[in-house]
Amino acid sequence: MKPYWTKVFGNPGALHWFGQEASAAVFKARNVIAKSLGCHYSEIIFTGSATEANNLALRGILKGIRNKELGMIGGKENRKPLIHNSLFTIPKIIVSSIEHESVLETARDLSRRWRDPAFHNFESVAGEKEGVEVVYLPVSKKGIVDLKKLKEELDERTVLVSVMYANNEVGTIQPIAKISEIIKDFRNELRIRNKESGGNLKSIIPNSSFIYPLLHTDAVQAFNYLDCNVDMLGVDLLTLSAQKIYGPKGIGALYARRRMNKELGIRDKENSVIHNSSFIILPQITGGGQEYGFRSGTENVPGIVGFGKAVELVSNSYELENKRLRKLQEYFLARIKKMFPKAQLNGDEKNRLPNNINLYFPQQSAQDLIIKLDLAGFAVSPGSACSARTCTPSHVLKAMGFSDERATSSIRITFGRPTTKEEIDKLTKAFARVL
Ligand code: PLP
Repeated sequence: MKPYWTKVFGNPGALHWFGQEASAAVFKARNVIAKSLGCHYSEIIFTGSATEANNLALRGILKGIRNKELGMIGGKENRKPLIHNSLFTIPKIIVSSIEHESVLETARDLSRRWRDPAFHNFESVAGEKEGVEVVYLPVSKKGIVDLKKLKEELDERTVLVSVMYANNEVGTIQPIAKISEIIKDFRNELRIRNKESGGNLKSIIPNSSFIYPLLHTDAVQAFNYLDCNVDMLGVDLLTLSAQKIYGPKGIGALYARRRMNKELGIRDKENSVIHNSSFIILPQITGGGQEYGFRSGTENVPGIVGFGKAVELVSNSYELENKRLRKLQEYFLARIKKMFPKAQLNGDEKNRLPNNINLYFPQQSAQDLIIKLDLAGFAVSPGSACSARTCTPSHVLKAMGFSDERATSSIRITFGRPTTKEEIDKLTKAFARVL
Protein backbone atom coordinates (compact mmCIF):
# COMPACT_ATOMS: atom_id res chain seq x y z
CA MET A 1 0.00 0.00 0.00
CA LYS A 2 2.85 2.36 0.89
CA PRO A 3 3.88 3.58 -2.58
CA TYR A 4 0.31 4.65 -3.29
CA TRP A 5 0.44 7.23 -0.51
CA THR A 6 3.84 8.57 -1.33
CA LYS A 7 5.08 7.91 -4.86
CA VAL A 8 2.14 6.79 -6.99
CA PHE A 9 -0.47 9.22 -5.69
CA GLY A 10 -2.09 10.11 -9.01
CA ASN A 11 -5.84 10.15 -9.48
CA PRO A 12 -6.87 6.93 -11.23
CA GLY A 13 -9.45 8.91 -13.18
CA ALA A 14 -6.80 11.04 -14.88
CA LEU A 15 -5.73 10.34 -18.45
CA HIS A 16 -2.01 11.06 -17.99
CA TRP A 17 0.56 8.38 -17.17
CA PHE A 18 0.72 9.39 -13.53
CA GLY A 19 -2.97 8.76 -12.98
CA GLN A 20 -2.86 5.65 -15.12
CA GLU A 21 -0.27 4.07 -12.84
CA ALA A 22 -2.74 4.35 -9.99
CA SER A 23 -5.54 3.17 -12.27
CA ALA A 24 -3.54 0.04 -13.16
CA ALA A 25 -3.12 -0.77 -9.46
CA VAL A 26 -6.86 -0.42 -8.89
CA PHE A 27 -7.54 -2.64 -11.89
CA LYS A 28 -5.13 -5.30 -10.64
CA ALA A 29 -6.83 -5.42 -7.24
CA ARG A 30 -10.28 -5.51 -8.85
CA ASN A 31 -9.20 -8.44 -10.98
CA VAL A 32 -7.79 -10.39 -8.02
CA ILE A 33 -11.05 -9.94 -6.11
CA ALA A 34 -13.15 -10.82 -9.18
CA LYS A 35 -11.14 -14.00 -9.73
CA SER A 36 -11.60 -15.07 -6.13
CA LEU A 37 -15.38 -14.69 -6.55
CA GLY A 38 -15.45 -16.19 -10.05
CA CYS A 39 -16.97 -13.09 -11.63
CA HIS A 40 -16.11 -10.39 -14.18
CA TYR A 41 -14.00 -7.50 -12.89
CA SER A 42 -16.67 -4.95 -13.83
CA GLU A 43 -19.04 -6.60 -11.39
CA ILE A 44 -16.94 -5.40 -8.43
CA ILE A 45 -17.89 -2.02 -6.95
CA PHE A 46 -15.48 -0.65 -4.35
CA THR A 47 -17.10 1.12 -1.40
CA GLY A 48 -15.90 2.76 1.82
CA SER A 49 -17.00 -0.18 3.98
CA ALA A 50 -19.12 -3.31 4.07
CA THR A 51 -21.81 -1.19 5.67
CA GLU A 52 -21.87 1.00 2.59
CA ALA A 53 -21.91 -2.06 0.31
CA ASN A 54 -24.91 -3.48 2.20
CA ASN A 55 -26.64 -0.10 1.93
CA LEU A 56 -25.93 0.03 -1.79
CA ALA A 57 -27.35 -3.46 -2.27
CA LEU A 58 -30.60 -2.85 -0.41
CA ARG A 59 -31.22 0.78 -1.27
CA GLY A 60 -29.87 0.40 -4.81
CA ILE A 61 -32.35 -2.34 -5.66
CA LEU A 62 -35.27 -0.45 -4.22
CA LYS A 63 -34.20 2.67 -6.08
CA GLY A 64 -34.05 0.59 -9.25
CA ILE A 65 -37.52 -0.74 -8.65
CA ARG A 66 -38.83 2.75 -8.02
CA ASN A 67 -37.03 4.36 -10.88
CA LYS A 68 -38.75 4.36 -14.21
CA GLU A 69 -35.41 4.78 -15.93
CA LEU A 70 -34.50 1.23 -15.07
CA GLY A 71 -37.80 0.28 -16.54
CA MET A 72 -36.42 1.08 -19.95
CA ILE A 73 -33.42 -0.89 -21.09
CA GLY A 74 -32.03 -1.92 -24.43
CA GLY A 75 -31.17 0.13 -27.53
CA LYS A 76 -33.18 3.21 -28.47
CA GLU A 77 -35.50 1.53 -30.90
CA ASN A 78 -35.55 -1.54 -28.77
CA ARG A 79 -36.56 -0.09 -25.45
CA LYS A 80 -38.53 -2.46 -23.38
CA PRO A 81 -39.98 -2.00 -19.93
CA LEU A 82 -38.29 -4.09 -17.28
CA ILE A 83 -40.68 -3.14 -14.57
CA HIS A 84 -44.43 -3.08 -14.96
CA ASN A 85 -46.63 -1.03 -12.71
CA SER A 86 -43.94 -0.99 -10.05
CA LEU A 87 -45.23 2.25 -8.64
CA PHE A 88 -48.46 0.52 -7.81
CA THR A 89 -46.89 -2.37 -5.99
CA ILE A 90 -45.43 -2.35 -2.49
CA PRO A 91 -42.11 -4.15 -2.80
CA LYS A 92 -41.27 -6.73 -0.21
CA ILE A 93 -37.82 -7.60 1.05
CA ILE A 94 -36.94 -10.62 3.17
CA VAL A 95 -33.96 -10.44 5.50
CA SER A 96 -32.82 -12.88 8.15
CA SER A 97 -33.38 -11.77 11.73
CA ILE A 98 -29.70 -12.29 12.59
CA GLU A 99 -28.19 -9.99 9.93
CA HIS A 100 -25.55 -7.42 10.83
CA GLU A 101 -26.99 -4.02 11.76
CA SER A 102 -25.92 -2.60 8.41
CA VAL A 103 -28.59 -4.79 6.77
CA LEU A 104 -31.18 -4.75 9.54
CA GLU A 105 -31.12 -1.00 10.13
CA THR A 106 -31.14 -0.31 6.39
CA ALA A 107 -34.18 -2.55 5.96
CA ARG A 108 -35.88 -0.77 8.84
CA ASP A 109 -34.98 2.60 7.39
CA LEU A 110 -36.38 1.64 3.99
CA SER A 111 -39.63 0.58 5.51
CA ARG A 112 -39.79 3.95 7.27
CA ARG A 113 -38.67 6.05 4.34
CA TRP A 114 -41.50 5.13 2.07
CA ARG A 115 -43.87 6.20 4.80
CA ASP A 116 -42.08 9.51 5.17
CA PRO A 117 -44.30 12.51 4.32
CA ALA A 118 -41.40 13.78 2.20
CA PHE A 119 -42.29 10.96 -0.15
CA HIS A 120 -45.84 12.24 -0.57
CA ASN A 121 -45.31 12.03 -4.29
CA PHE A 122 -44.74 8.34 -4.14
CA GLU A 123 -47.58 7.90 -1.71
CA SER A 124 -50.04 9.74 -3.85
CA VAL A 125 -48.96 7.83 -6.96
CA ALA A 126 -49.09 4.51 -5.22
CA GLY A 127 -52.09 5.40 -3.12
CA GLU A 128 -50.33 3.58 -0.32
CA LYS A 129 -49.09 4.56 3.09
CA GLU A 130 -47.26 1.40 3.98
CA GLY A 131 -44.16 1.44 1.76
CA VAL A 132 -41.57 -1.34 1.60
CA GLU A 133 -42.60 -4.40 3.50
CA VAL A 134 -39.80 -6.05 5.42
CA VAL A 135 -40.06 -9.66 6.55
CA TYR A 136 -37.57 -10.87 9.15
CA LEU A 137 -36.85 -14.55 8.63
CA PRO A 138 -36.72 -16.51 11.88
CA VAL A 139 -33.81 -18.80 12.73
CA SER A 140 -33.58 -22.10 14.58
CA LYS A 141 -32.09 -22.51 18.08
CA LYS A 142 -28.80 -23.18 16.29
CA GLY A 143 -29.03 -19.95 14.30
CA ILE A 144 -29.89 -21.37 10.86
CA VAL A 145 -32.57 -19.60 8.79
CA ASP A 146 -35.95 -21.24 8.44
CA LEU A 147 -36.19 -22.31 4.77
CA LYS A 148 -39.81 -23.40 5.09
CA LYS A 149 -40.73 -19.91 6.22
CA LEU A 150 -38.72 -18.46 3.33
CA LYS A 151 -40.73 -20.52 0.84
CA GLU A 152 -43.95 -19.36 2.46
CA GLU A 153 -42.94 -15.71 2.35
CA LEU A 154 -41.83 -15.53 -1.30
CA ASP A 155 -44.48 -13.82 -3.40
CA GLU A 156 -44.91 -11.71 -6.53
CA ARG A 157 -43.91 -8.56 -4.68
CA THR A 158 -40.65 -9.93 -3.28
CA VAL A 159 -37.74 -8.08 -4.85
CA LEU A 160 -34.90 -9.10 -2.56
CA VAL A 161 -33.83 -11.81 -0.14
CA SER A 162 -30.81 -10.94 1.98
CA VAL A 163 -29.24 -13.66 4.11
CA MET A 164 -25.69 -13.47 5.44
CA TYR A 165 -23.27 -16.26 4.54
CA ALA A 166 -21.87 -16.57 8.07
CA ASN A 167 -22.93 -14.80 11.22
CA ASN A 168 -20.54 -12.43 12.97
CA GLU A 169 -21.64 -13.34 16.50
CA VAL A 170 -22.26 -17.07 16.55
CA GLY A 171 -20.39 -18.04 13.38
CA THR A 172 -23.22 -20.16 11.94
CA ILE A 173 -23.03 -20.75 8.21
CA GLN A 174 -26.23 -20.29 6.21
CA PRO A 175 -27.26 -22.58 3.32
CA ILE A 176 -26.92 -19.87 0.65
CA ALA A 177 -26.80 -22.25 -2.34
CA LYS A 178 -30.01 -23.91 -1.12
CA ILE A 179 -31.66 -20.51 -0.68
CA SER A 180 -30.63 -19.66 -4.23
CA GLU A 181 -32.28 -22.87 -5.50
CA ILE A 182 -35.50 -22.01 -3.67
CA ILE A 183 -35.49 -18.55 -5.26
CA LYS A 184 -34.77 -19.93 -8.73
CA ASP A 185 -37.64 -22.40 -8.36
CA PHE A 186 -39.89 -19.56 -7.30
CA ARG A 187 -38.90 -17.45 -10.32
CA ASN A 188 -39.78 -20.40 -12.55
CA GLU A 189 -43.06 -20.85 -10.76
CA LEU A 190 -43.88 -17.20 -11.45
CA ARG A 191 -43.08 -17.75 -15.12
CA ILE A 192 -45.42 -20.73 -15.28
CA ARG A 193 -48.16 -18.95 -13.36
CA ASN A 194 -47.84 -16.01 -15.72
CA LYS A 195 -48.16 -18.26 -18.77
CA GLU A 196 -51.14 -20.04 -17.33
CA SER A 197 -52.88 -16.76 -16.58
CA GLY A 198 -52.33 -15.57 -20.15
CA GLY A 199 -49.73 -13.00 -19.08
CA ASN A 200 -51.85 -11.46 -16.33
CA LEU A 201 -49.21 -11.81 -13.67
CA LYS A 202 -46.91 -9.43 -15.50
CA SER A 203 -49.17 -6.54 -14.66
CA ILE A 204 -48.91 -7.07 -10.92
CA ILE A 205 -45.35 -8.20 -10.35
CA PRO A 206 -42.54 -5.66 -10.33
CA ASN A 207 -40.77 -7.06 -13.38
CA SER A 208 -41.57 -8.56 -16.70
CA SER A 209 -38.59 -10.85 -16.97
CA PHE A 210 -38.74 -12.72 -13.69
CA ILE A 211 -35.29 -11.69 -12.45
CA TYR A 212 -36.72 -10.94 -9.01
CA PRO A 213 -36.45 -11.84 -6.19
CA LEU A 214 -32.74 -11.12 -6.19
CA LEU A 215 -30.45 -12.79 -3.67
CA HIS A 216 -27.92 -10.81 -1.65
CA THR A 217 -25.46 -12.27 0.84
CA ASP A 218 -23.22 -10.47 3.31
CA ALA A 219 -20.06 -12.59 3.06
CA VAL A 220 -17.94 -10.34 5.28
CA GLN A 221 -17.27 -13.01 7.89
CA ALA A 222 -17.28 -15.94 5.49
CA PHE A 223 -14.66 -14.84 3.00
CA ASN A 224 -11.73 -15.86 5.21
CA TYR A 225 -12.87 -19.46 5.44
CA LEU A 226 -15.48 -20.38 2.84
CA ASP A 227 -15.71 -20.67 -0.92
CA CYS A 228 -17.36 -17.46 -2.12
CA ASN A 229 -17.74 -18.32 -5.81
CA VAL A 230 -20.84 -16.37 -6.82
CA ASP A 231 -22.08 -18.98 -9.30
CA MET A 232 -21.67 -21.82 -6.85
CA LEU A 233 -23.62 -19.76 -4.30
CA GLY A 234 -26.10 -18.53 -6.92
CA VAL A 235 -26.15 -14.99 -5.55
CA ASP A 236 -26.85 -11.73 -7.40
CA LEU A 237 -25.10 -9.49 -4.88
CA LEU A 238 -22.38 -10.19 -2.33
CA THR A 239 -20.71 -7.94 0.25
CA LEU A 240 -17.06 -8.04 1.29
CA SER A 241 -14.90 -6.06 3.70
CA ALA A 242 -11.10 -5.76 3.62
CA GLN A 243 -10.72 -5.32 7.37
CA LYS A 244 -12.14 -8.79 8.11
CA ILE A 245 -9.47 -10.48 6.03
CA TYR A 246 -6.48 -8.64 7.54
CA GLY A 247 -6.71 -5.85 4.99
CA PRO A 248 -7.05 -2.13 5.70
CA LYS A 249 -10.07 -0.54 7.36
CA GLY A 250 -12.33 1.77 5.40
CA ILE A 251 -12.62 -0.28 2.21
CA GLY A 252 -15.33 -2.72 1.18
CA ALA A 253 -16.84 -4.05 -2.01
CA LEU A 254 -20.13 -5.09 -3.48
CA TYR A 255 -20.32 -7.75 -6.16
CA ALA A 256 -23.33 -6.97 -8.40
CA ARG A 257 -24.22 -9.51 -11.05
CA ARG A 258 -24.72 -8.21 -14.55
CA ARG A 259 -28.01 -9.25 -15.94
CA MET A 260 -27.29 -10.20 -19.50
CA ASN A 261 -29.90 -9.15 -21.97
CA LYS A 262 -30.26 -12.80 -22.84
CA GLU A 263 -31.63 -13.41 -19.39
CA LEU A 264 -33.86 -10.38 -19.68
CA GLY A 265 -35.06 -11.52 -23.07
CA ILE A 266 -33.98 -8.31 -24.84
CA ARG A 267 -33.56 -8.99 -28.53
CA ASP A 268 -32.87 -6.87 -31.59
CA LYS A 269 -34.91 -6.77 -34.80
CA GLU A 270 -33.34 -9.98 -36.09
CA ASN A 271 -34.32 -11.56 -32.80
CA SER A 272 -30.76 -12.16 -31.68
CA VAL A 273 -29.68 -11.34 -28.16
CA ILE A 274 -28.22 -7.89 -27.63
CA HIS A 275 -25.00 -8.24 -25.70
CA ASN A 276 -25.11 -5.07 -23.68
CA SER A 277 -25.62 -5.80 -20.11
CA SER A 278 -27.51 -4.08 -17.46
CA PHE A 279 -27.01 -3.84 -13.73
CA ILE A 280 -29.75 -4.39 -11.26
CA ILE A 281 -29.03 -1.59 -8.83
CA LEU A 282 -28.90 2.18 -9.01
CA PRO A 283 -26.22 4.27 -7.27
CA GLN A 284 -26.58 5.96 -3.90
CA ILE A 285 -23.60 8.25 -4.38
CA THR A 286 -23.65 10.20 -7.62
CA GLY A 287 -20.98 12.43 -9.10
CA GLY A 288 -18.00 11.77 -11.34
CA GLY A 289 -19.14 8.29 -12.31
CA GLN A 290 -16.33 6.23 -10.76
CA GLU A 291 -16.90 2.53 -10.13
CA TYR A 292 -18.89 2.16 -13.36
CA GLY A 293 -21.20 4.90 -12.14
CA PHE A 294 -22.28 2.96 -9.06
CA ARG A 295 -20.18 4.80 -6.50
CA SER A 296 -18.81 8.18 -7.44
CA GLY A 297 -15.81 9.68 -5.68
CA THR A 298 -12.07 9.38 -6.30
CA GLU A 299 -10.96 5.87 -5.41
CA ASN A 300 -9.14 5.03 -2.19
CA VAL A 301 -6.15 3.66 -4.09
CA PRO A 302 -3.97 2.45 -1.14
CA GLY A 303 -7.06 0.87 0.45
CA ILE A 304 -7.99 -0.91 -2.76
CA VAL A 305 -4.42 -2.12 -3.27
CA GLY A 306 -4.35 -3.43 0.33
CA PHE A 307 -7.73 -5.11 -0.20
CA GLY A 308 -6.45 -6.86 -3.33
CA LYS A 309 -3.33 -8.08 -1.53
CA ALA A 310 -5.36 -9.34 1.44
CA VAL A 311 -7.63 -11.29 -0.91
CA GLU A 312 -4.61 -12.80 -2.65
CA LEU A 313 -3.16 -13.93 0.69
CA VAL A 314 -6.46 -15.38 1.91
CA SER A 315 -7.10 -17.18 -1.38
CA ASN A 316 -3.74 -18.92 -1.08
CA SER A 317 -4.17 -19.99 2.51
CA TYR A 318 -7.81 -20.40 3.42
CA GLU A 319 -8.02 -24.20 3.24
CA LEU A 320 -4.99 -24.77 5.47
CA GLU A 321 -6.00 -22.01 7.86
CA ASN A 322 -9.49 -23.47 8.04
CA LYS A 323 -8.12 -26.85 9.15
CA ARG A 324 -5.67 -25.32 11.60
CA LEU A 325 -8.30 -23.18 13.32
CA ARG A 326 -10.90 -25.97 13.32
CA LYS A 327 -8.47 -28.12 15.31
CA LEU A 328 -7.80 -25.30 17.78
CA GLN A 329 -11.54 -24.67 18.09
CA GLU A 330 -12.23 -28.36 18.92
CA TYR A 331 -9.31 -28.45 21.34
CA PHE A 332 -10.45 -25.33 23.19
CA LEU A 333 -14.08 -26.44 23.36
CA ALA A 334 -13.14 -29.86 24.71
CA ARG A 335 -11.03 -28.26 27.46
CA ILE A 336 -13.69 -25.70 28.40
CA LYS A 337 -16.39 -28.38 28.56
CA LYS A 338 -14.22 -30.50 30.82
CA MET A 339 -13.45 -27.60 33.15
CA PHE A 340 -16.95 -26.05 33.12
CA PRO A 341 -19.52 -28.72 32.30
CA LYS A 342 -22.28 -26.10 32.60
CA ALA A 343 -20.88 -23.95 29.79
CA GLN A 344 -22.84 -24.22 26.53
CA LEU A 345 -21.95 -23.34 22.98
CA ASN A 346 -24.23 -20.86 21.19
CA GLY A 347 -24.84 -21.73 17.56
CA ASP A 348 -24.26 -24.83 15.49
CA GLU A 349 -21.23 -26.88 16.53
CA LYS A 350 -20.43 -28.22 13.04
CA ASN A 351 -21.96 -25.66 10.72
CA ARG A 352 -19.88 -22.76 11.99
CA LEU A 353 -16.83 -20.74 11.12
CA PRO A 354 -13.61 -22.23 12.53
CA ASN A 355 -12.59 -18.98 14.22
CA ASN A 356 -15.70 -18.37 16.28
CA ILE A 357 -16.62 -19.60 19.75
CA ASN A 358 -19.65 -18.13 21.45
CA LEU A 359 -20.10 -19.50 24.95
CA TYR A 360 -22.81 -19.27 27.55
CA PHE A 361 -21.71 -19.38 31.18
CA PRO A 362 -24.90 -19.67 33.28
CA GLN A 363 -25.24 -17.08 36.04
CA GLN A 364 -22.09 -15.25 35.01
CA SER A 365 -22.07 -11.65 33.84
CA ALA A 366 -20.46 -11.42 30.40
CA GLN A 367 -19.31 -7.90 31.20
CA ASP A 368 -17.52 -9.09 34.35
CA LEU A 369 -15.88 -11.94 32.50
CA ILE A 370 -14.70 -9.66 29.74
CA ILE A 371 -13.15 -7.16 32.12
CA LYS A 372 -11.34 -9.90 34.04
CA LEU A 373 -10.09 -11.53 30.87
CA ASP A 374 -9.08 -8.13 29.56
CA LEU A 375 -6.92 -7.58 32.64
CA ALA A 376 -5.41 -11.00 31.99
CA GLY A 377 -4.47 -9.78 28.49
CA PHE A 378 -7.27 -11.36 26.43
CA ALA A 379 -9.56 -9.35 24.14
CA VAL A 380 -12.94 -11.09 24.04
CA SER A 381 -16.38 -9.61 23.32
CA PRO A 382 -19.94 -9.82 24.55
CA GLY A 383 -22.36 -10.59 21.71
CA SER A 384 -21.31 -8.37 18.82
CA ALA A 385 -18.88 -5.49 19.00
CA CYS A 386 -21.66 -3.05 18.20
CA SER A 387 -23.80 -4.19 21.08
CA ALA A 388 -20.77 -3.83 23.33
CA ARG A 389 -21.26 -0.08 22.99
CA THR A 390 -24.94 -0.08 23.83
CA CYS A 391 -24.83 -3.07 26.17
CA THR A 392 -28.17 -4.44 25.03
CA PRO A 393 -28.59 -8.20 24.78
CA SER A 394 -27.48 -9.50 21.41
CA HIS A 395 -30.29 -9.50 18.80
CA VAL A 396 -28.78 -12.67 17.34
CA LEU A 397 -29.03 -14.68 20.56
CA LYS A 398 -32.51 -13.29 21.14
CA ALA A 399 -33.57 -14.30 17.61
CA MET A 400 -32.26 -17.80 18.37
CA GLY A 401 -34.84 -17.94 21.13
CA PHE A 402 -32.55 -17.40 24.11
CA SER A 403 -33.43 -15.47 27.25
CA ASP A 404 -31.97 -12.10 28.25
CA GLU A 405 -30.05 -13.97 30.96
CA ARG A 406 -28.38 -16.22 28.38
CA ALA A 407 -27.70 -13.28 26.08
CA THR A 408 -26.02 -11.27 28.82
CA SER A 409 -24.04 -14.26 30.12
CA SER A 410 -22.51 -15.16 26.75
CA ILE A 411 -19.15 -14.15 25.37
CA ARG A 412 -17.60 -14.38 21.94
CA ILE A 413 -14.03 -15.51 21.44
CA THR A 414 -12.46 -15.07 18.03
CA PHE A 415 -9.36 -16.89 16.83
CA GLY A 416 -7.28 -15.69 13.93
CA ARG A 417 -4.09 -16.04 11.96
CA PRO A 418 -1.84 -15.20 14.95
CA THR A 419 -3.63 -17.58 17.37
CA THR A 420 -1.51 -20.49 18.63
CA LYS A 421 -2.16 -23.56 20.78
CA GLU A 422 0.00 -22.03 23.53
CA GLU A 423 -2.25 -18.98 23.62
CA ILE A 424 -5.29 -21.20 23.92
CA ASP A 425 -3.74 -23.03 26.85
CA LYS A 426 -3.11 -19.66 28.50
CA LEU A 427 -6.69 -18.58 27.79
CA THR A 428 -8.05 -21.78 29.35
CA LYS A 429 -5.98 -21.13 32.46
CA ALA A 430 -7.24 -17.56 32.58
CA PHE A 431 -10.80 -18.88 32.44
CA ALA A 432 -10.05 -21.20 35.33
CA ARG A 433 -8.87 -18.21 37.37
CA VAL A 434 -11.68 -15.80 36.55
CA LEU A 435 -14.63 -18.17 36.79
N1 PLP B 1 -21.38 -7.36 7.95
C1 PLP B 1 -20.87 -8.19 8.88
C2 PLP B 1 -21.31 -9.62 8.91
C3 PLP B 1 -19.94 -7.72 9.80
O1 PLP B 1 -19.44 -8.55 10.73
C4 PLP B 1 -19.56 -6.37 9.76
C5 PLP B 1 -18.60 -5.82 10.74
O2 PLP B 1 -18.38 -6.33 11.79
C6 PLP B 1 -20.12 -5.55 8.76
C7 PLP B 1 -21.03 -6.08 7.88
C8 PLP B 1 -19.76 -4.10 8.65
O3 PLP B 1 -18.45 -3.92 8.29
P1 PLP B 1 -17.82 -2.42 8.23
O4 PLP B 1 -17.77 -1.98 9.66
O5 PLP B 1 -16.52 -2.61 7.58
O6 PLP B 1 -18.74 -1.60 7.45
